[in-house]
Amino acid sequence: RAASEGRRWMTYDPAELENAEWKMSLLARLDQAVEHGEIWVAYQPKVEMATGRIIGAEALARWSHPEKGEVPPSQFIPAAERSGRIENLTAHILDSAVAATASIHRAGHTDFSIAVNLSARLLDSPSLLTMVADTLARHAMEPRHLILEITETTAMTSQDGIVQALEKLSASGVRLSIDDYGTGFSTLDYLKRIPADEIKIDRSFVSMLEKSQSDRIMVHSTIQLAHSLGRRAVAEGVENAVVLNELRLMQCDYVQGYFTGKPMKFSALMETLPSLEKR
Ligand code: C2E
Ligand code: CA
Ligand code: CA
Ligand code: CA
Repeated sequence: RAASEGRRWMTYDPAELENAEWKMSLLARLDQAVEHGEIWVAYQPKVEMATGRIIGAEALARWSHPEKGEVPPSQFIPAAERSGRIENLTAHILDSAVAATASIHRAGHTDFSIAVNLSARLLDSPSLLTMVADTLARHAMEPRHLILEITETTAMTSQDGIVQALEKLSASGVRLSIDDYGTGFSTLDYLKRIPADEIKIDRSFVSMLEKSQSDRIMVHSTIQLAHSLGRRAVAEGVENAVVLNELRLMQCDYVQGYFTGKPMKFSALMETLPSLEKR
């Protein structure tokens, strides 16, 4: 057994090599892609359960590569994180998303809020606070309309430094969301300590809700936990009416998913928002 394992790491797996090459070639072009405007933002509507209204959207990064076509974020975000390019990329996405939201406000939807994904690695960055504040100032947007989503798994690994960074962001007026909740290892103490306004339940628990009793229990108890801590609960990955209805009975506050709206271009989002009567 030992011999065959020894041999295994000496041989090349062509698929793996190709994959590594592909990622290297993507990375090499990432900075240029930002400059050339190949990285754009898709917006997925976030719906308020009680009213059925679109009260905001999540900004999701997209890369239209001139040769490779549409590259999903799972192919370039982790690589950007590892290679020190995530700050530049986030600054670009944040600026696009905040600019888009400011124009939604100007169109009369003054309560619309935008959620931007924040790599937990950036919580260590000394320039994060000014990057966020400068972007909001540039577009004259109030901080309370910006929600930063931070993944539970990554945020969990650090202690006081992370909590302090989150406290500073919260004190600046932006809101925080714990993303992919249920996939990490949050303790109740951690949930209590971090100043998050919402808990976003991972879609792996939500999408099969109608078929799985254990997922139903997990989702329901998370909603109750969020409420007892004074936080809002968001369910992502809502793909059909049955799940939506179950979430309604569980008093989930907000929903996101293909059923209520797929990620879309900014122009499509504008068309999806109800037109406001001119007075
Ligand atoms: P996420 O933050 O958990 O985003 C939700 C993902 O689920 C998105 O995938 C979205 O398109 C997808 N989704 C939404 N509704 C449904 C549904 O009903 N069913 C199914 N099956 N999927 C649904 P996407 O856009 O491919 O993004 C993947 C991940 O990449 C995101 O997961 C997030 O972690 C990361 N990401 C995307 N944009 C950014 C960004 O600007 N910065 C950072 N740091 N990460 C980003
Ligand atoms: Ca997210
Ligand atoms: Ca998520
Ligand atoms: Ca996710």
